[in-house]
Amino acid sequence: MIMLSLVSSRRIIVAVKPTNASSQTLTAAQRRIAILGVGIDDVTEAEVLARLDDLLRSGRPHHLVTINPEFVVEAQVNPAFRTMLARADLSTADGFGILLAARYLGTPLRGRVTGVDLTWHLAALCADRGYRMFLLGAAPGVAEATANVLQARYPQLVIAGTYAGSPQPRHEPFLRQMIHAAHPDVLLVAYGHPHQDLWIARNQPLLQVPLAVGVGGTFDYISGRVPRAPAAIRRVGMEWAYRLVRQPQRWRRIINAVPRFVWLVLRYGRHAASPTLY
Ligand code: UDP
Repeated sequence: MIMLSLVSSRRIIVAVKPTNASSQTLTAAQRRIAILGVGIDDVTEAEVLARLDDLLRSGRPHHLVTINPEFVVEAQVNPAFRTMLARADLSTADGFGILLAARYLGTPLRGRVTGVDLTWHLAALCADRGYRMFLLGAAPGVAEATANVLQARYPQLVIAGTYAGSPQPRHEPFLRQMIHAAHPDVLLVAYGHPHQDLWIARNQPLLQVPLAVGVGGTFDYISGRVPRAPAAIRRVGMEWAYRLVRQPQRWRRIINAVPRFVWLVLRYGRHAASPTLY
């Protein structure tokens, strides 16, 4: 059983007690909703962590995706991305917009599990259990800086490796070789969407890492390269606006995704099957 005490996003205390009971409690209760054809698991942060503990113990390869509205919009026009999302072992709601849409559609979700919070919890879990973590992606030096921050909080954490690299398919053989040699149990991939999760889907069958997670801009936040929105702003779902002000180069992406997501949910969300836009 995993007991979480979330004091704030900057101080997370995780106590992990070894037990065999968590799998029974969690898999039995699992419920998956769909927003425009994209499945999202109705799980709380504590449940996800207990589930990951089980998945890691199994040693088999798994893929966790953290869904935000941009993923849902992309899935409507990118069949490969949509198929990949459908095959993921666990899909959590990352963006606040996902929670709002789920509530509007009459299938409310109990919680939100962001890539940043998940990374902190996973670091605690890995430190406690002796699992090895590999950080792939972001600008040169950022994954390494992130590893240093995580290890400063969890000195027992074993970092199997860090590397910026590139999501381009021609670099995959080299990256696979490097990751394979490092023997990680947890692989965090920060190439932004949709590349990071497509990268995992292409490479996981060969890598067989027990847990791979696409984490978006997480390394930028944890390393301090990009300031995260204050908790009060995150709570009211305005993180996207904060990012827009702090990183104006993102405006095209955000302006493209947010209104389209709202329109698609209002127009097609309640239909049994969402339209195929590709
Ligand atoms: N990134 C990268 N290589 C690329 C594209 C993106 O390493 O070719 C990294 C980028 O440096 C950032 C991360 O991917 O650290 C996620 O970027 P973004 O904030 O756009 O992702 P989001 O969280 O919005 O999915």
